[in-house]
Amino acid sequence: MTYEYERVDTPARGLRLHLNENTAGCSPAVLAALGTLTREQAAAYPDYTGAIAACVAHLGVRDTELLLTNGLDEGILAAAVTALRGSSADSPREAVVVAPAFDMYAACADAAGGRVVEIPLEADFSFPLHAILERIGRRTAIVFLTTPHNPTGQIVSRDAIVTIAREVPHATVFVDEAYIDFGGTTIVGDPAASDLPNIVVGRTFAKAYGLAALRVGALVGHVDRIAALRRVVPPYSLNVCAALALPAALADSRYYGWYCDQVQTSRGMLYAACERLGLRYWVSAANFVLVDLGAGAKETIRALAERGIFVRDRSHDPGCDGFARVTAGVVEHTERFIGTLEEVLCAAR
Ligand SMILES: *Cc1c(COP(=O)(O)O)cnc(C)c1O
Repeated sequence: MTYEYERVDTPARGLRLHLNENTAGCSPAVLAALGTLTREQAAAYPDYTGAIAACVAHLGVRDTELLLTNGLDEGILAAAVTALRGSSADSPREAVVVAPAFDMYAACADAAGGRVVEIPLEADFSFPLHAILERIGRRTAIVFLTTPHNPTGQIVSRDAIVTIAREVPHATVFVDEAYIDFGGTTIVGDPAASDLPNIVVGRTFAKAYGLAALRVGALVGHVDRIAALRRVVPPYSLNVCAALALPAALADSRYYGWYCDQVQTSRGMLYAACERLGLRYWVSAANFVLVDLGAGAKETIRALAERGIFVRDRSHDPGCDGFARVTAGVVEHTERFIGTLEEVLCAAR
């Protein structure tokens, strides 16, 4: 079994609703900040003081509890390496992931030499807490959880996270909060997790803040865990543009609030469209909606692409045959998607 991140085509033109990016772009304040870059700054190794201060204030943690990463992807890789190195056939170290989930967990766990243990979501896509509790144990070195979950948009309860973390105090419980801006409650600063130093939270500024191309993520956790993670991340992992962009993005709370509102409205529009068109969908706490396009899914996805609208085919995922994940972003973009989907489906029926 090989685990690999599925690299999808990323057409430069057209409406990109396949990677859960911010479809409006970043805040204009970010470009203004990038415009202040000097020749000397470009020539010097980056200074993270401003970026760390902004992020620490934003998350309400101490700087020893935070590690900025080159996108959350790097944070996932660092967590996998830290937890799984030293794994061998005689004494395997296991990474527990639910399936389907974000590809990077299994890909990084595999790359780090660990053994990947996949636990399927329940048939209705609810969180498989009991199956996880049955499977975790002595060999478990890391458990990857995502809330809201990608690709289903479902929230994993705080109780479930805490129960798992108590069960395997020797393992890292990695809580990926890539979509927490759009729904659910963060576990960062939650008193229920305060005596659980094995919880590490992953955040990204790629989605709600629109910094996907600049690559900025963060890991938050107990001082000792963060210190261990810091040892496997290169010292200048973020470039100077990312370091300048982050404080500017975080400071523009109006833009952020506007975008999160657009996402919420778009989700509602997508649900209503699915109901009109008789398509099954999952109510989502994230900036995407998983839709069952049925037997003609491949054709529908291709017809949308021919019309310049890209959605993510999730058919290869367990239990997802005929499913597509559609980004909910700017309302005008969602209107365009819905109009085109109606056109494509009516032509096919
Ligand atoms: C997009 C995504 C990431 C990656 O974030 P980057 O900061 O772009 O590396 C991590 N986890 C999940 C669940 C995601 O969907």
